Amino acid sequence: MQRFDYRREASAESAARTMSAALGEGGFFAAGGPRVPLRQRAQFIAGGTNMTDYMTLDVIQPQLLIDINGLAARHSNIEVTAHGLRLGALVRMAQAEDHPAVRAEYPVIHETLLLAASRQIRNMASLGGNVLQRTRCEYFRERSWACNKRVPGSGCAAMDGINRQHAILGTSDRCIAAYPGDFAQALIALGAVVETVGASGSRHLSFEKLHRLPGDTPEIETTLAPDEVIVAIDVPAGPWTRRSHYVKVRDRQSYEFAVASAAVALHLEGDVVREARIALGGVATVPWRAREAEQVLKGQVLDVALAEKAAAVAFEGARVRAHNAFKVGTGKQTLVRALMETRAMEIQP
Ligand code: SF4
Repeated sequence: MQRFDYRREASAESAARTMSAALGEGGFFAAGGPRVPLRQRAQFIAGGTNMTDYMTLDVIQPQLLIDINGLAARHSNIEVTAHGLRLGALVRMAQAEDHPAVRAEYPVIHETLLLAASRQIRNMASLGGNVLQRTRCEYFRERSWACNKRVPGSGCAAMDGINRQHAILGTSDRCIAAYPGDFAQALIALGAVVETVGASGSRHLSFEKLHRLPGDTPEIETTLAPDEVIVAIDVPAGPWTRRSHYVKVRDRQSYEFAVASAAVALHLEGDVVREARIALGGVATVPWRAREAEQVLKGQVLDVALAEKAAAVAFEGARVRAHNAFKVGTGKQTLVRALMETRAMEIQP
């Protein structure tokens, strides 16, 4: 691990100003310097469960860590109203997982948190940090390999390497790394909105627009400005939130990332689908909303045949590599299972 400076901030505004000053003027890369994203020179840190990992591996070498745990005084509440759920960005994963109203009214959120990492990690990790966690691609984590995300323009060792865990949706010729999180799938399915504060002010951003497809610049993973910090996540209420569910398929049943997962929320009238929300994990480069599959379900009676039709549509655009073609079948089966289990949920009036 490299030496770094450390600074604590007590408000989002001061954290953003400190970050802005640390990065200086200019664009995403230092003019005339190596193509190392400026954002990596200084980093926000909260729970640190992802950041310290990459610092220890020397994948990220920030010169400055800006500790935002002091923001918890204003941004660590969980509020449930008739309009929806508001989660402060400094809420710990375990805190949201244990909240009775989250369990009852937004079970898909409870389940995505419950099935993530280990309880020890969930006690530390913040919700804002969790949605920004970086890929587990083995070649990204090991500095001796070529990786466009870690060193732009250096190549991608995963393309012809061991790519069993890699994405089949949303990939590019530069990067096929899968987005590793679970909670984000619940948020994208439920149409969450992210509130941020940057040096130039605050804004609200659809969660669906937070993560960027890799395209030609896989090193730029989100649409956040380098000095922007997430302060809250709002999840709107809807007739589908109670009937919501997450299925995660992984190589072992604890402390493991998804091979394929599906977050589903349904508004049913009898067996007829009035509204369907579907997000896929483990198979895509970003949290993946499967809108075409949702359209297949709307207005129809949900049975296994219809679920299989929707799953086929969800994976129509899949691009596979040598070791991950199995994810097409596994991903479809995961979605079918999630849809049928969500339909079968008993909802208390
Ligand atoms: Fe790097 Fe992406 Fe290739 Fe992995 S898949 S080696 S993260 S460029």
